[in-house]
Amino acid sequence: MRVGATPSGARRAAVDRDALLAPFWAEITGIQREAEGISTYWLRFEDAALRDAYGFAPGQFNMVYLPGYGEAAISISSDPAEPGRIGHTIRFVGNVTRAVSRLKVGDVVGLRGPFGTAWPMKEAKGNDVIISAGGIGLAPLRPAIHHIVRCRADYGKVTLLYGARTPKDLLYTTEFDAWRKADIQVNVTVDRADESWQGQVGVVPLLFYRFRMEAQRSVVLSCGPEIMLRFVVFESRARRVPSDRIYLSLERNMKCGQGFCGHCQLGAHFICKHGPVFRFDDLEPYFDVEEY
Ligand SMILES: Cc1cc2nc3c(=O)[nH]c(=O)nc-3n(C[C@H](O)[C@H](O)[C@H](O)COP(=O)(O)OP(=O)(O)OC[C@H]3O[C@@H](n4cnc5c(N)ncnc54)[C@H](O)[C@@H]3O)c2cc1C
Repeated sequence: MRVGATPSGARRAAVDRDALLAPFWAEITGIQREAEGISTYWLRFEDAALRDAYGFAPGQFNMVYLPGYGEAAISISSDPAEPGRIGHTIRFVGNVTRAVSRLKVGDVVGLRGPFGTAWPMKEAKGNDVIISAGGIGLAPLRPAIHHIVRCRADYGKVTLLYGARTPKDLLYTTEFDAWRKADIQVNVTVDRADESWQGQVGVVPLLFYRFRMEAQRSVVLSCGPEIMLRFVVFESRARRVPSDRIYLSLERNMKCGQGFCGHCQLGAHFICKHGPVFRFDDLEPYFDVEEY
């Protein structure tokens, strides 16, 4: 139920969720530790009508609200084909997310959303797809991977180029085999190996550099630290991937999630409303503008 709303009000609002600035309660049904300081929270709306009405596209995010702490934009990291079971993979960095880290199964959080643009799953059909992610940047790309696994015949060669600082920082490692079984090539690297690591060492752009692709039939989807995105764009452009085939998700600081407050403005764009997923040709003039 919406915070402070009557059941009928909540139901009415469920039909017109876009207009919402008030969050709805969702119960934590599961918590999965992914890495040091990062866990996935499985959430279920308390209101049954909202549960039925809710849906999201890969790449979208919710505003996660904790009374007394505030809100944080968090990507939806779960399967869009199961919208009643919402997954949020959260890194505990500040006010809201550290408070979330203290929650238990059965506790509730407020959710507003889904907001923002999505990965171009329709436009990418019939093409090779290169998914390139750094660290927790894999979270908003996981729904796209879920979608591709479900509709595998719709896409050509699919490759994940993923990196994290150390092997212990890699997310969703237990799912890699299932993705490989679905004919997704999974290439993983770490910045710093430990004694257990047998794989590649180096940053994600290095994987990209070594990767052979057919530029004109490839679509690149990428999320990660902005320095990584810059190199992914550089490598893609060096291989003649057209700007309108490169998609980036930008995770800059945001507040309202609705394009009102201007916190996440980048040139002519509000990242919360016109993004977070941008086609690179729309972003190109502003790409070098740093957040301050
Ligand atoms: C569209 C979008 C999707 C996101 N998805 C996820 C997700 O799936 N999982 C997740 O853990 N986080 C995600 N984030 C980042 C998350 O919203 C921020 O880290 C948020 O500030 C956390 O709130 P807080 O109150 O805990 O931290 P705060 O107290 O607000 O800030 C903590 C520290 O993080 C810095 N910071 C704030 N926002 C950002 C940012 N966007 N990028 C880098 N540093 C930042 C601040 O400057 C400060 O130093 C996403 C952000 C956006 C815009």
